[in-house]
Amino acid sequence: MVKKHPILKKNDKVIVLSGKDKGKIGAVLKIDSEKTRAIVEKLNVVKRHSKAGAKGAKGGIIEKESPLPISNLMVICNKCAAPTRVGKRILEDGSKVRTCKKCGELLN
Ligand SMILES: [Zn+2]
Repeated sequence: MVKKHPILKKNDKVIVLSGKDKGKIGAVLKIDSEKTRAIVEKLNVVKRHSKAGAKGAKGGIIEKESPLPISNLMVICNKCAAPTRVGKRILEDGSKVRTCKKCGELLN
């Protein structure tokens, strides 16, 4: 079983706290296996030159999201419409859920 990141989940809406994409918002596409970095849609995009020929690909410039440190991201609560710290709560059935520390809303 794959252990989930305690704070961040795929498809979370996050804001970047610092760096060239500071203040930008995107959806989490992927979290790396060490759970330290995440790829966020259309953020931290780097241009790479690809050579023609490799695996039949065309040459040219490809734009690709580069992973961002999770410590540099903050989850956005849909209810507050603002970045928030993520809290944890255990439901009656024992399952753990994430909550917004500001309004208590469940983050799914
Ligand atoms: Zn909230």
